[in-house]
Amino acid sequence: MFKGLILIDNENIEYSLDLIEVVKRLAGEEATFIYGLGINLSCEAKGLDAVIHVDVPKIQLKDSRVVTDIVQQVHEEYQFDSIIILATEFGRMVAPRLAMRLEVGLVADITDIEVDKRGKKLIRPAFSGNIMASIVCESSPIMASVHPNVFHVDAEELIAVPEKLTFVPSKLKASSIEVLEIIECEENTVDIREADVLVSAGGGFKEPIDQLQGLAKELTGLVSVSKQLVDRKRAPREIQVGQSGKTVSPDLYIALGIYGSTQHIEGLKNVKEIISVNTDLGAPMNYLASLVVHGDAAEFARKLSTKLKG
Ligand SMILES: Cc1cc2nc3c(=O)[nH]c(=O)nc-3n(C[C@H](O)[C@H](O)[C@H](O)COP(=O)(O)OP(=O)(O)OC[C@H]3O[C@@H](n4cnc5c(N)ncnc54)[C@H](O)[C@@H]3O)c2cc1C
Repeated sequence: MFKGLILIDNENIEYSLDLIEVVKRLAGEEATFIYGLGINLSCEAKGLDAVIHVDVPKIQLKDSRVVTDIVQQVHEEYQFDSIIILATEFGRMVAPRLAMRLEVGLVADITDIEVDKRGKKLIRPAFSGNIMASIVCESSPIMASVHPNVFHVDAEELIAVPEKLTFVPSKLKASSIEVLEIIECEENTVDIREADVLVSAGGGFKEPIDQLQGLAKELTGLVSVSKQLVDRKRAPREIQVGQSGKTVSPDLYIALGIYGSTQHIEGLKNVKEIISVNTDLGAPMNYLASLVVHGDAAEFARKLSTKLKG
């Protein structure tokens, strides 16, 4: 029996449950028993075989060192064959800490899995995305982090009600987080990972990004960007597509002045159609596109918007 643990991210329950697919693929032909670790979890997390519930004071949940402590203690009790963590900003703080504590390797940001006679191969981009590396972990548990939206579990797998287990951690470190001030943020209801249409701007889109909101609205979609625009402070990070941004899977992706670097392409998963607008016909993005428009990105966006309004 292959025992896998998924650390459930309370703010990303659906993406956490997609990690069931990761454990199943890692197990290969072996039967699986998949645990979820829910810290202060209030929902049922259907599809897992069991959920181990841990309750801690709310502030401790924000401290990656405390969460690492909890996962370590739970692993010491259950001895998992693999531990899979969602590569959110928080997950990326927990995963390497935990790997160090357990003295095992961590394969970060995996995009695929292959299991054959030579072992369980975790596949991830390496050398700035120029090659895909297959990594076999000889240590146990196998630890990996996975970007949200990279793997998907079938909806019919998410029916079974998990067994409910509880775990009381011993001697947790006091959190070193101190609350200095509470600032209410506007709730961000926009998530490019959920969009069916993305109007995406890159370095070749020379106008302010806000100008694309109208076009995105006409297409009932959202605006996204390449990293270049985030680095140049022209757009917020939450709407960045790519390796260090979000993985998206819209039906239509309109790439406005995006070169198509490997790091950007990595964020495009199961995209049905791409329209690439670029002044350079040789841009790699064009080779992925079903339709290439040779010309200025801003002018194209303006004209398309006017046409759709008409
Ligand atoms: C570790 C690491 C992680 C990274 N993560 C990401 C990531 O998550 N996401 C990401 O996007 N990048 C990422 N990058 C950066 C990536 O390598 C590229 O630098 C970046 O994607 C380039 O953005 P771009 O294509 O928008 O801009 P550029 O490379 O500047 O390309 C602009 C494109 O627009 C075209 N163009 C120019 N003018 C016009 C015009 N008027 N109209 C139409 N087309 C025009 C050009 O021909 C070109 O093809 C990462 C890099 C590293 C090293």
